[in-house]
Amino acid sequence: MADRLSQSEVSTAPTRQTALSLATPLERAFRLRPKVRAGLKRLGLQTVRDLLYHFPSRYENLSMLKRINEIGDREEVVVFGVIQSLKTGKTFRTKKPVAEAVVADGSGTLLVRWFHQPYMAKMLKEGTVVKLAGIVYGRGKRRYLANPDVEPTTIAPEEVHHSLFASQDVATHGYLAIYPETKGVSSLWFRAAIRSVLARLTAAALVDPIPEKVRTCYHLPDLACALRWIHQPINEKQAQAARKRFAFEEVFVLQVAHAYERHQYEAKRSIQINADWQKVATFMRERFPFTPTKAQWRAAREILTDLKRPRPMLRLLEGDVGSGKTAVAAAALFAVVTSPRSANRYAPLQAAYMAPTELLARQQFAELSSLFHHLPIRIGLLTSGGAAVFPSKTNPTKPTRVSKRQLLQWIRDGSVAIVVGTHALIEKQVQFAELALVIIDEQHRFGTAQRKALARKDAIAPHLLSMSATPIPRTLALTFYGDLDLSTLDELPPGRKVPITTIVKPQDRTRVYQAVEAKLKEGRQVYVICPRIATPDAQNPLALQARSVEEEAKHLAQSVFPAWRIGVLHGKMSAKEREEVMQAFLNHDIDILVTTTVVEVGVNVPNATVMIIESAERFGLAQLHQLRGRILRSSHQAYCYCFAESWGPATRKRLSVFATTTDGFALAEADLALRGAGDLSGTRQSGFSDLGMEALKNLKLVQAAREEAKAIVAQDPSLQRFSLLRERAFAALEQIHYE
Ligand code: ADP
Ligand code: MG
Repeated sequence: MADRLSQSEVSTAPTRQTALSLATPLERAFRLRPKVRAGLKRLGLQTVRDLLYHFPSRYENLSMLKRINEIGDREEVVVFGVIQSLKTGKTFRTKKPVAEAVVADGSGTLLVRWFHQPYMAKMLKEGTVVKLAGIVYGRGKRRYLANPDVEPTTIAPEEVHHSLFASQDVATHGYLAIYPETKGVSSLWFRAAIRSVLARLTAAALVDPIPEKVRTCYHLPDLACALRWIHQPINEKQAQAARKRFAFEEVFVLQVAHAYERHQYEAKRSIQINADWQKVATFMRERFPFTPTKAQWRAAREILTDLKRPRPMLRLLEGDVGSGKTAVAAAALFAVVTSPRSANRYAPLQAAYMAPTELLARQQFAELSSLFHHLPIRIGLLTSGGAAVFPSKTNPTKPTRVSKRQLLQWIRDGSVAIVVGTHALIEKQVQFAELALVIIDEQHRFGTAQRKALARKDAIAPHLLSMSATPIPRTLALTFYGDLDLSTLDELPPGRKVPITTIVKPQDRTRVYQAVEAKLKEGRQVYVICPRIATPDAQNPLALQARSVEEEAKHLAQSVFPAWRIGVLHGKMSAKEREEVMQAFLNHDIDILVTTTVVEVGVNVPNATVMIIESAERFGLAQLHQLRGRILRSSHQAYCYCFAESWGPATRKRLSVFATTTDGFALAEADLALRGAGDLSGTRQSGFSDLGMEALKNLKLVQAAREEAKAIVAQDPSLQRFSLLRERAFAALEQIHYE
């Protein structure tokens, strides 16, 4: 009965096709109503597998639940019900203000009264389902629930009426799965559809991507069992065991992909660079206007060791903003461009340096030109905006503009040794004579595909050095960059001033503005960071609280800093407009730059030493840290002021960690622990599920998945015997990225 009911209610009627596999499109598994079809599309669910891997976000424990017609006098109860009516009034004798509601759950109706809280009637809505917990007063027909706790729920009204108490889910399980929903596709639909699919899938169709040996070793339930446990658990333990298994699966699949990729890449030939360490060391000592840090020495040595091998290097250089990654990159470049090409002993090997924005590329081009001007090599700059080469024929201390065609020609014949550029470097026409090294700066700004496109341009695989200023916890590094070896710059150059970070109370805003104005008068520049670009849509009332770049800029110009030049910068502007604004800020034609987080990957503006972060509670710690990095580039004391629109205890804790910690790695770990990985800035659209993210808090699990993955690839490099795993791994690689 229940099944028939839910089938007609939710239209999960199966099509006639009987043989169902995980790859079967949902369209062919069910007769879908247009609304359902649209909803599934929105959720990105296409196949039976997608459906089965759409996991509950939580469970409603119904073992505590009471049906309204079973409630006894003076009982403490939990009830689910649809609000039928709402009103406010005064109590009969004492004239206390009271809100009253009548709720119904299909078995009966119950009066609910909130004394002294007439506003409850305004907060609730007729026709919605609420969960109520409280004590029942009065007797018989005059019973009422007094001042109960109310929780909104995502359960549909029809579900309360028809199936909450009748459905198989509750009758047999006591735990009701609640799914991420969308219009047209409710939790009720998911439960019925998943129940139907599980009943129709044969054991043979449920092939487990995790090899049995691995499952046994880590006590993981097999796929068929885990699917039942995650969707229809009888108790908490089953749900947890299943979640652990799927978390492992997600990490494992990705690790297999990394291990596979790495194996493939390393099977390629690369150019062995036998640089003389003494020469490199001399270069580092003599050419830099500073003494390299221990960490810089260590990283340079690790890279040089990699370059000597016949297999291509795959290394990530991670170091906080300002830790001096450029110098390490320069050491690697030096080693390459002082080594002769195989075909022509008198021409140097080549290297490519890719930066995420044109301005950064230009800045790096200038920096490298000055570091290498003593060498007999030419350096090229290639962006969509144009091409240049250093040194100019007429002036050996200056670069000169050239046509793009000319530069491409020089890259092809090998007469330009280092090419700095943006995405333009990936284009097909860019062909190198002998490309030995690829460096990707701020690599998290590029998609995996772009990263690979450059690294894999040639038959001979170049050595690859990725650089990132996003300090991330080790588990995340292993997961997102599992195919890379890791060098870290865990030490900032000496003498850096620690920024003074203040969490500002709303009443102190004026005082902060005065302090900022004093800095402006000293000739410094200021960043103002807002989480939003424009005035938020009224649809999302929560967003109303977050400040927007456009409004804030207007407000500051009119009422706070009318005497100063204010610029705005955000992601809706074209790349060209953004570059222009950044250039103007760099030239000090703008005093105050109001911006979103796009400024994160920034050029150096050493004169900007003050940062105001609005609605700071909106940002993850790692991101706040990244932002603050913008004001660490000069010898002036830097100040960072954080304003928050809301002040929950969690916010306060998080922001105080930010104010007191300047170590990016420590902050990243704290972020992971405090917020849950799903909230980690940038990981949200990472192609990784919340469940997988949760797994990343568990270093042991990640390491285990990695070890097992490596073992499998070592045993069967082309994954012939693991075809399912191989397919899943490729799919995962397509999706994954960390921003
Ligand atoms: P990032 O790691 O953010 O790319 P950069 O390479 O741009 O950092 O270096 C930041 C600044 O620190 C530059 O101005 C650079 O000249 C300087 N710097 C780098 N290494 C050192 C060092 N060992 N001692 C002093 N200053 C350094
Ligand atoms: Mg840098």
